[in-house]
Amino acid sequence: MGDAAGLLRDAGRVTVLTGAGISTDSGIPDFRGPNGLWTRNPSAQRMSSLQDYVADPEVRKRAWQSRKEHPAWSAQPNDGHHALVDLERSGRLVALLTQNIDELHQRAGSSRDRVVELHGTIWWAVCLTCGVKTPMGDVLPRLDEEPDPGCTLCGGILKSATISFGQALDPDVLDRSARAARDCDVFLVVGSSLTVHPAAGLCDVAVMAGADLVIVNAEPTPYDSLAAAVVRAPIGDILPALVRDAVA
Ligand code: NAD
Repeated sequence: MGDAAGLLRDAGRVTVLTGAGISTDSGIPDFRGPNGLWTRNPSAQRMSSLQDYVADPEVRKRAWQSRKEHPAWSAQPNDGHHALVDLERSGRLVALLTQNIDELHQRAGSSRDRVVELHGTIWWAVCLTCGVKTPMGDVLPRLDEEPDPGCTLCGGILKSATISFGQALDPDVLDRSARAARDCDVFLVVGSSLTVHPAAGLCDVAVMAGADLVIVNAEPTPYDSLAAAVVRAPIGDILPALVRDAVA
């Protein structure tokens, strides 16, 4: 962890970008890791395409079943999530940008106003027609009777409040994330393949603004060559050690 530890120790301001890899120790599979959902079943990607979701009721029914069975409902935060709470308590965390939809950062104790959910949250559903949001806990019990539940207000198509492929990110969320990427000494990426844009492009934003990019991920990423330090190790072991060392 050599260089990464030194960079984090010297950094007054750290912005973190997390991906699915920080939640695998909590029992939530990632998409592209060796045991990832898409690695094992490439056709599952269709459920993540907005176009297919809107066009095909069968895709929606499968997507809702998969939401119902999602491990996030019972998952607990792990040592990686808790380490980022410690980083925040040290006063160095500018923002915690996450591509995850599981809310495990907030449940670990990260402040809601520091966590920026780039890809939304599975804990809410949204109507694609009228935009009204409903707690997911009110929608899932309807699935036995209505495998493709509609909006109770306007009858429109309901979807979890997450960003699918083909769907634009909330411009305010993206703007806030870009500002946090520009406003740090170290941009720390944890558990992301850095293949999903525009989230991955925040690395470019940070480096162009003068930050050191530090990547903690088991597998190589397209941004490794831009990074000041790359740590290829299990997050649950290395992240608590890096944070302990940095805040000591
Ligand atoms: P990804 O699946 O593309 O990549 C995850 C990376 O994490 C992989 O490179 C893998 O090698 C690494 N990894 C997994 N477990 C690790 C561990 N314990 N230690 C070290 N490295 C580990 O994930 P992504 O880059 O976040 O992009 C996928 C998209 O999928 C995101 O948009 C996200 O919204 C969504 N997603 C979210 C969740 C979640 O909320 N937990 C789960 C699956 C997918």
